Amino acid sequence: MEKNFYIETFGCQMNEYDSEKISGMLKNLDYKETEDIKSADLIIYNTCLIRKNAENKLYGKLGALKKLKSEKDDLILAVGGCIPQNDEIRNYILEKYPFIDIIFGTNTFYRLPEMISKHLNNNNDVLVELEKNSSSLNENLPTIRKYDHKALINIMYGCNNFCSYCVVPHTRGRERSRDSEDILTEIKLLASQGFKEVTLLGQNVNSYGNDIEGDYKFTQLLEEVEDIDGIERIRYVSSHPKDVGDDFIDFLSRSKKVCNHIHLPIQSGSSKVLKEMNRKYSKEDYLLIIEKLKKSVPNISISTDFIVGFPGETEEDFEETLEVCREAEFDAAFTFIYSIRPDTPAGKREDQIDDKIKHERFNKLLETLYPTFYEKNLAYKGKVVKVLVDEVSKSKDDYLTGRSASNRIVHFKGNKDLIGKIVNVKITNVKTWFLEGVLTEEDAYE
Ligand code: SF4
Repeated sequence: MEKNFYIETFGCQMNEYDSEKISGMLKNLDYKETEDIKSADLIIYNTCLIRKNAENKLYGKLGALKKLKSEKDDLILAVGGCIPQNDEIRNYILEKYPFIDIIFGTNTFYRLPEMISKHLNNNNDVLVELEKNSSSLNENLPTIRKYDHKALINIMYGCNNFCSYCVVPHTRGRERSRDSEDILTEIKLLASQGFKEVTLLGQNVNSYGNDIEGDYKFTQLLEEVEDIDGIERIRYVSSHPKDVGDDFIDFLSRSKKVCNHIHLPIQSGSSKVLKEMNRKYSKEDYLLIIEKLKKSVPNISISTDFIVGFPGETEEDFEETLEVCREAEFDAAFTFIYSIRPDTPAGKREDQIDDKIKHERFNKLLETLYPTFYEKNLAYKGKVVKVLVDEVSKSKDDYLTGRSASNRIVHFKGNKDLIGKIVNVKITNVKTWFLEGVLTEEDAYE
């Protein structure tokens, strides 16, 4: 009898990429993906530990599984990803949610088929499989991709940076770059299958190749991806400011396929806070990179991340963050309220900021950022942009949604035959978070 699996992914695109691999392996075991959790025979939560919110959200979901498990005896429940990598939180989950059957980590997800089979042979004990620091690159796993026209490609795993607030080096281990030949082979195959866009993923893509011998670095990789026929757009995420060099910016200025968008997390506008975050750049260093990018790459769109309320952040530090917002004029940002993460130096500090102050600063940050996002979008009104069409709009059946090269979400009326194609859309209306337009034959501005 056919079995169904339900998978929910929390956190970053790394986890999304791992979930695509998990789905691929399960389909090889004749499991079919379902979006209806109640019809699932196997439920997987691929988890994120980066913020307390994501952790709390998981606990809510796990609590709700108890009832499902009691109604369906042979239901298999699995929790994987970043959260189980932390001993204390994993033990809490094991104690509080004893009905979970399988626990795996970021470095052991590829063993899930084996764990399911072990569970089916002996379904009494919870199975826990973890590796703290894997050297495995999980090559040659089947992948079920979310889209047929754009794909996430992991080019490296882990992180060496140890920002003082972050759990990633603890959950995903040290940096391991994939062999460039393996990456290029994967992308050539995707191009032959009709994929038009690839997003190269890593915690810090600009340090790609630093852990392997030789001079082959991220810029060389981008150059070779650019040579692959059929691939029309190349994206990459994330870039760490400390590793964005002039050769890279120079390449962006020449590239025909790398999109005019960079996600460059700043986290704070105060050099003092940045030092305490162990980010290894100052406010001035960051602003200089922005200046170079804006000079070299026409219409570059810059998005960033902010953490508000880092321990010891003063009003003056926060004011500097607001000043940087005004100066850098970001196109988009992910904004977060600092939360204590296990095993991190910042989490152990005694000068944690009061919640009320954190929320007040957070609101002020949004009030400063949002008008700029809108202004930047307004510049597109009346212009024509190329849009890679992703899907039918979630709010209107006869509308489509896609992204411009600068990573703006664009909604327009159109037939779903256009999904996967690059079309020209004239922008007629703009909002803070998206653009609206109409299909056109006119030449595109970008
Ligand atoms: S660069 Fe810093 S914030 Fe990003 S994953 Fe590595 S340690 Fe975490």
